Amino acid sequence: MIGARSFKILMVATEAVPFAKEGGVADVMGSLPKALAALGHEVCVFLPRYGMIDPGRWGLKATGIVRAVSMGGFERSASIWQTTLPDSLVKVYLLENEEFFGRHQQIYLGSDQRDEQRRFLLFCRGLLEALPQLDFAPDIIHLNDWQTAPCAAYLRTTYRHLLRQGSARIVYTIHNLQYQGRWDPSILDEAGLDPSRVFISAGLEFWGDVNWMKAGIMYADVVTTVSHRYAEEIQTLDYGWGLDEALFQRHSRIFGIPNGLDWEVWNPATDGTLTAQYSETEATKAKARNRTALRQEFGLPDAPELPVVGIVSRLVDQKGFDLIAEIATELGNLPLQLVVLGSGHPPYERLFRDLATNTSNVRARIGFDTALSRRIYAGTDFFLMPSAFEPGGLGQLIALRYGTLPIVHATGGLADTVTDLDDDPGNGNGFSFKSYTASALADALRRALRLYAERERWPDLVARAMAYDSRWAKSANAYSDLYARVLEVPT
Ligand code: ADP
Repeated sequence: MIGARSFKILMVATEAVPFAKEGGVADVMGSLPKALAALGHEVCVFLPRYGMIDPGRWGLKATGIVRAVSMGGFERSASIWQTTLPDSLVKVYLLENEEFFGRHQQIYLGSDQRDEQRRFLLFCRGLLEALPQLDFAPDIIHLNDWQTAPCAAYLRTTYRHLLRQGSARIVYTIHNLQYQGRWDPSILDEAGLDPSRVFISAGLEFWGDVNWMKAGIMYADVVTTVSHRYAEEIQTLDYGWGLDEALFQRHSRIFGIPNGLDWEVWNPATDGTLTAQYSETEATKAKARNRTALRQEFGLPDAPELPVVGIVSRLVDQKGFDLIAEIATELGNLPLQLVVLGSGHPPYERLFRDLATNTSNVRARIGFDTALSRRIYAGTDFFLMPSAFEPGGLGQLIALRYGTLPIVHATGGLADTVTDLDDDPGNGNGFSFKSYTASALADALRRALRLYAERERWPDLVARAMAYDSRWAKSANAYSDLYARVLEVPT
């Protein structure tokens, strides 16, 4: 690193592309470490080793490090495997425990919160136990979301020595404040944490429960979230999920750093899953071919005058599908076609299945399919993301990269990245609606359709969308500056 210090950064997360992905945090973990390494930092990533991570495909090697962790009177083993992030020198360590991770094909089990907490407590304890043997003494321990936040509680108590007399710092990134990891205080016994030290209002106590998200917020040296707008929103009653006060107390240590997008991974010019690959110059023609192929794939009639709108999403409350349910009848009559790819809450899966059955212009695929998601980003004209709240959002960034105009609710990262074309015709790159209501969504859709009818403007708008600079470099620099600042400030 020229003219600046380089740091050792330990990135701890529960998902990372290409090994295991459920949402946007996996994309971040697959690309931010590489962007930080490109700035001269030494980065390693720590993940659980889930059953779906194919050891042969990803070249997993045993490090020989095996630690026994005592949890609630049981000895549990944690062995450490190693590989690298593809096309990089970034080391990835994977913590193996057959019962908690190896035998599961999913990242989150979601069945029983207590079991879920046990799994990630073992992950945190195991990695802190293993760390001294890895020949990697981090300057920055960067935790991501509640599952990794117990590390912060340990690092302030039983594993304090790993902060090396205060020369290392903890950074905690909130990717989604809604999921907090809350349980009754009996979990502290299994965690091996002394309640008199941590079960306090300045610690992880929250309305009589343990709250791991709060542990991250209170014990980290700095807290970040993945957009500027969300950093402000979470300090308010409406978006704070009960933690707004705790966050407000930490006000001066909260920073918004927007997520970037890996332009190598998401590149329509090299994307092998597409019928026609394209850069800005041939986008209009190629997108038309991709759109035709997508219509065929979804069994939609080839109606060139109708735009195709796409949704690729986890189907959960956050994503705004209650608004779509409200306009279901109108949607069936609008001059557009809608293709949906997603999975999640059964009521939303049912909503889209029913829409697909009952209307001629909506089709849905329930499941998780990265290749199909790429064909949707490429073959659609608009990408719909009406999220009630959205910490950062990658869907809209991928859509822009593929020349597809986002239609979004103006919240969190969506508000930071999508500029409404009616508000600012010279710089707009999509459509956004401010009040979270079905009529505002319907209005945004109608405005988008009006614009679509102005065919002569379209090539420029596609080119403008594709030129939106979402690359990681700027954000990686912001993290790098923040690491430097937090290392200078006494704890
Ligand atoms: P979140 O992290 O809340 O799920 P983001 O917009 O930040 O939302 O990231 C979502 C990521 O997951 C995007 O890369 C999107 O393409 C991908 N994704 C979501 N659902 C699916 C699905 N059913 N199939 C394939 N990819 C999906």
